[in-house]
Amino acid sequence: MNTKKSQVKILLAAFEADPFYKSGGLGDVAGSLPRYVASDNYDIRVILPKLSTIPQKYVDKMQFIESFTVPLGWRNQYCGLFELKFSGVRYYFVDNEFYFNRPKVYGEFDDGERIAFFSKAVLESIEHMNGFIPDVLHCNDWHTALTPVFLREQYMQVPGFDQIKTIFTIHNLKFQGMFSADMIGNILGLAGTPAESQIKMGDAVNFMQGALRYSDMLTTVSPSYAKEICTPYYGEHMDGLFNARRASLVGILNGIDYKEFDPLYDKNIEFHFSDKTIQNKKKNKLKLQEELGLEVDETIPMYTIISRLTEQKGLDLVTYILPQLMERKMQLVILGVGDQKYEEAFTWYANNNPKKVAALMKFDAKLSNVLYAASDALLVPSRFEPCGLTQMMAMRYGTLPIVRETGGLKDSVAPYNEYTGSGTGFSFANFNAHELLSTIDNSLMVWYDRPKDWLKMQKQAMKKDYSWRSSAKQYRKLYRKIAGK
Ligand code: ADP
Repeated sequence: MNTKKSQVKILLAAFEADPFYKSGGLGDVAGSLPRYVASDNYDIRVILPKLSTIPQKYVDKMQFIESFTVPLGWRNQYCGLFELKFSGVRYYFVDNEFYFNRPKVYGEFDDGERIAFFSKAVLESIEHMNGFIPDVLHCNDWHTALTPVFLREQYMQVPGFDQIKTIFTIHNLKFQGMFSADMIGNILGLAGTPAESQIKMGDAVNFMQGALRYSDMLTTVSPSYAKEICTPYYGEHMDGLFNARRASLVGILNGIDYKEFDPLYDKNIEFHFSDKTIQNKKKNKLKLQEELGLEVDETIPMYTIISRLTEQKGLDLVTYILPQLMERKMQLVILGVGDQKYEEAFTWYANNNPKKVAALMKFDAKLSNVLYAASDALLVPSRFEPCGLTQMMAMRYGTLPIVRETGGLKDSVAPYNEYTGSGTGFSFANFNAHELLSTIDNSLMVWYDRPKDWLKMQKQAMKKDYSWRSSAKQYRKLYRKIAGK
């Protein structure tokens, strides 16, 4: 019997991917996932815009394939296609200087048109990939949400295209791509087609709504978030649609790069450690306490926040209980940038309690690793969290996350069990400052009164596997299933 599996061909379309350009979680996923999926049985390729922000060292290595035009309403726009092999994956770059040579990647006045161009260029490019027609076209977030719509409405006559299956992944439901409905005829060329009513939302066009209606399969970045978005609280006005498509909606937890985030080899930290040499971790804390002007004492637990300082991250709960936290025997270090009100609150407390609080109001990737290594606990009390990476990074470095039970936080942190001493962190259910405070108090109790349990949890957290390896396995299964191979 021949047990050899047939090859599945996948084209992953995204607007950003690390290391070419990254602004957030989407860039992490589009950067890491293909490398972990790629194998003889999975020919996964990635298509991206050729942004002017891509470092020159990558641009220099790109090979020009061909140029052609992309129809966009009444226009025909130039499109160059470039190729680059990197880390075992073939990347395609869509070139158009007018759309992609901009000072900002997002937030330009004509984002709707730029994104529509890219979404359609993905399909036009497939015709120039030397015979590569994907079994699965994997689109991500609103920037590629129109691709499944264009595929079904305008490209079914291209040989082979009717066999392409589509997956749409939601990384961020907040940004849906809403623009004036004038675009539907003028730029999208979809006026008078069945798509018109499918992508319209009131007087506007909503790109993401198109993908939610047209894609064969929908995914998001954690199983719990997949359930949550079917409710009005989390659904961002799309819960009705998610409910209607519940049978085609799955959540797959993101991973982190276990090579990049490894306390045994991390070049950013001075004292390396593993779950077997965890006693070395506290040397990082002592060093950081000194550098930040905090009280230098290994017995005082250091709680950290590493985050965008926005409402989503539950920082209102933290600022509400700051007076109480000042009475506890603990330290608080905040690394983040964002809303002024949070920056001011944290800075004020740091100025008034310099031995207890440090407010580092900046984005500093190196320092974030130092903090993961040095801290004892990480606060992530988010209002919503599709997946969240900081809690996984913390666990990898033996730092116990204190999280609200939502989205990926719920799926990745096992709460402390006081009877067995098991768990990988602490959690609370309701978006309520007093629940956060009592959870912090509970963690302080474990730190001071049950150090053996703390240590056991640290080891359990460090042993957990939140690498891309396990997530990629689930994506492979999904790709194969939907491709019918
Ligand atoms: P989100 O994508 O919603 O911002 P995630 O938890 O998914 O949240 O990812 C946040 C990432 O950004 C993590 O890698 C975290 O370490 C990093 N990060 C957040 N704020 C900072 C900062 N001020 N300095 C350095 N890294 C940060």
